[in-house]
Amino acid sequence: MKNIIKSVIAITLILNLSACCSDQNKNSMDKTPAIITENMDNTVVPGDDFFKYVNGSWMDSNEIPAEYSQFGAFTELYENNQEQLKSLVEEVSKNTDIAQGSVAQKIRDLYNSGMDTVSIEEAGINAIADELSEISNLSTIAEVQNYIAEMHRTGISPLFYVYAEADQENSSMTIANVYQGGLGLPDVDYYINDDESSTKLRADYKDHLKKMFILKGDDEENAQNEASVVIKIETELAKVSKSRLERRDPNANFNKMGVSELSDISPDFNWSSYFANLGLSSPGDINVAQPDFFAGVSKLMTNTSVEDWKVYLTWNILDSYASYLNSDIVNQNFEFYGKVLSGTQEIQPRWKRVLSNTSGRLGEAIGQLYVEKYFPAESKQRMLELVENLRISFADRIQNLDWMSEETKKKALEKLERITVKIGYPDVWKDYTALKIVPDNYAQNVRNSKEFEFKFDINKVGKPVDKNEWGMTPQTVNAYYNPSANEIVFPAAILQPPFFNKDADDAVNYGAIGVVIGHEMTHGFDDQGRKYDKEGNLNDWWTEEDAILFEKKTALLVEQYNNYKVLDTLNVDGNLTLGENIADVGGLNIAYSALQKSYNGSNPAAIDGLSSDQRFFIGYAQVWRQNIRDKELMRRLKVDVHSPGDARVNIPPFNLDVFVNAFDVKEDNELFIPVSSRANIW
Ligand SMILES: [Zn+2]
Repeated sequence: MKNIIKSVIAITLILNLSACCSDQNKNSMDKTPAIITENMDNTVVPGDDFFKYVNGSWMDSNEIPAEYSQFGAFTELYENNQEQLKSLVEEVSKNTDIAQGSVAQKIRDLYNSGMDTVSIEEAGINAIADELSEISNLSTIAEVQNYIAEMHRTGISPLFYVYAEADQENSSMTIANVYQGGLGLPDVDYYINDDESSTKLRADYKDHLKKMFILKGDDEENAQNEASVVIKIETELAKVSKSRLERRDPNANFNKMGVSELSDISPDFNWSSYFANLGLSSPGDINVAQPDFFAGVSKLMTNTSVEDWKVYLTWNILDSYASYLNSDIVNQNFEFYGKVLSGTQEIQPRWKRVLSNTSGRLGEAIGQLYVEKYFPAESKQRMLELVENLRISFADRIQNLDWMSEETKKKALEKLERITVKIGYPDVWKDYTALKIVPDNYAQNVRNSKEFEFKFDINKVGKPVDKNEWGMTPQTVNAYYNPSANEIVFPAAILQPPFFNKDADDAVNYGAIGVVIGHEMTHGFDDQGRKYDKEGNLNDWWTEEDAILFEKKTALLVEQYNNYKVLDTLNVDGNLTLGENIADVGGLNIAYSALQKSYNGSNPAAIDGLSSDQRFFIGYAQVWRQNIRDKELMRRLKVDVHSPGDARVNIPPFNLDVFVNAFDVKEDNELFIPVSSRANIW
């Protein structure tokens, strides 16, 4: 359940969806209304709870399905996509007349091997017998370290992550990066906090570890001890790790050095032989994202016995393959990561799990089929026009900012001008030729795919950045800004209602996809993005006074979110979510200006009794409709840099005078923000 956390590569619109979906099937040929007025709750005063005013009736009539931890507009689209992908993949999966080695053969055999529960149950834990026996044969710390490299090479990440990424100071070249990791719980906080819920979660995690070792074949007493060993090692790693907030500072997490310097910091880990084992005998400069962490890893190497390391590595193998093994292991994995951590009640049906895995591992192969069938060419053209309208409005707004000097404005405008736009799908598709997929061994296919991905990634080290590459598949319902490429990217799957609706009036489309575009553009100028120049290099282009004024303004925004209550005793973390919140307010301002420009002085008539201004903000708010389980909300407040859906609707618009006027928000309304505390930065 570990995700690669690339330091800054993609600043996304939402946390990526991993699991979801009920069985409803939507007819994509139907016209979707621009605003679904039945979803609104007119008994709620917009100024008291704008989220409920727009989405209240939808929330009341959409209970979260058992297999979800949250359900909203994004999950509805994801679900619709699953149905579309299913029909594509099932067609391929029944085809017996396919050339060996073709992309279709790989899709077919990967999917079918995942659906072949007879073979999977029969193999049981033996599917990972080779790895388990290799670990049990380790007898020295040097062998342990060699095996850590072997695991990394096969896409499993004990202790830390290693990956290729653009050099933050020379963004046209790729370098190797090492980044803290090695934890089974979602974040550092879970190991360190002493509150009741953290303590309870640690106990539940320990229980999960024990059960997994028993399912591997160990007896109860051993399993109990092994669980303690894993917790001990992970707690030590957590103690030397940086918090999620500390990891948001791009400068602090960029420390370029050679292998010898890394070896000075971290002397008891053999870094030269580690990189050689990865196939990188001369890795060149490496970004050591958190030097203190790697100093800690080195100490841990000497303080921890070989036997304990073997337990920890065994756990990493089990955890990494848990979703692909026999049902007892799959279900135990879901018990903890699905139920305990996120409150999800039921595991998804098998076809959905196997489909997501197939769609992830052969992402661009399936993406190619997906866009051929479901992505209309005219969507791309319309999006390009929208993006350019937004860019012009953003430029106007920068020119008119009352707080920024001409000197910084000039640099900001240059950076805006240089933003690259990617829409729909990549121009060059990924080549899967070197990936071998067999008909009847799911775990082997996962292993081959992990190894293929690692090799693909690490081969980039020392080479120029491939500008054609995408960080998301076309079938992903999300969008991102990549600071080191200074680019915004919108996969095909987000270009559907309620984000992008060809039948909707401009006010609603600018409020939805327009704000998404503005949001991604603003990421180039949020508290992290502003530290990169037009070329995507970490390079301060701000005058000192402008930087101070920027921080004063963002402090207002931090305060607004810190004061927003989510559950009884929990508030949003205004510092952790700052970049996203700047992007939401910026997105609204830029998209609203672009909409006004498109009217060219004319005054559009009201529709359904709602003015153009009102429709813009309702178009925005309905994108964020959502119900979420308490456990999932608690987890996200800790790990997600995005604010919860209701906060994304109940705070940003209240900074805009046009919103306050459109909905007649008064001082005594719950969500009113006094003029002096409003934070319209961009
Ligand atoms: Zn974002």
